[in-house]
Formats: sequence, C-alpha cells, structure tokens
Amino acid sequence: MDDLVAAGCPEQSVAFFASERPDVWSAALVPAGTGQFIVENTAHLPRRRRYNIAHEMAHVLLEHEFDRVMFSAEGRRGCANPASKDQEWEAAELGAELLLPYAAAYEAAKAHKINEQVADLFDVSIPVARWRMNGTGARIVAQRTAAKWANFRMGT
Ligand SMILES: [Zn+2]
Repeated sequence: MDDLVAAGCPEQSVAFFASERPDVWSAALVPAGTGQFIVENTAHLPRRRRYNIAHEMAHVLLEHEFDRVMFSAEGRRGCANPASKDQEWEAAELGAELLLPYAAAYEAAKAHKINEQVADLFDVSIPVARWRMNGTGARIVAQRTAAKWANFRMGT
C-alpha cells in the first residue's frame, strides 16, 4: 500500500486506509491482464500481513478465476467473495498451510509446543497457530501416536 502513491494513487486515499480506517481492509487481489497483483494494508501488524498475503497467494496458486478485485478485511476469514464460499475455504486452508504446514505442526505437537511457542516459531498469530495445531489434527494425532507407543512399551 505504501507504494501506491508513487504509482499514482491519491495520497489522501492511502492515508485514509493507512491511518483513519486501517480496519476496513487487509489485502486485495487485483486482476491485471492475464495475471494478478496483491495490494496489502501495511498498517496492519506483521503477522497479520503475512496471513493476508498468504491468503491472497493461495487464490493465485489455486487458479481461482475472478473478474473483480477481491478484498479481505479484519475479522473476516477470507475475502468478500460472494461468488464462492468454497474458494474462500480453499484459500484459507492453503494460505494457512503455506505459513504453518501440517508436517511442521505435527513436529511442534510431538515436541509439546504450546500455541504461543508455535506462533513465535512460525511468525503467525496465536489464533492461526491454534487453528493449525488443532484444526489440522496435528496435536491429537501426536497425542494418539505417543499413547500408542507408550502402550506398546508397557506390553498392553
Ligand atoms: Zn479470499
């Protein structure tokens, strides 16, 4: 967003989104010819920015087709994309996977890392760390595997 003024965007518009209403949008995926580019709100915290960019990148990696600018906003898990809730779900899952892959979440679970440690380790927010550790099943699979091996060692 900081580069938009140099690209010709009115300074007042950028200032509005940067300081007056930074909460109204997080990132946007903008179609441009045969490609797309991401505009992200640089007023947000770094971990939030990483999540926003990963989400928009996921739309591109998933080859989602869209004919309009897609915006994501604070408090919303995904873009304002009335055309497809499925695409938002896919982008949310892949975006989170890019930041904290399942295999890494499983290793963190085996090492008994708590959500705050995982968040710091992967530079994600605590809610994203909690989501990946629990929502992917990494933590419960690690617990079940440990219990299975403990039972095996005890001969039960
Ligand atoms: Zn989205």
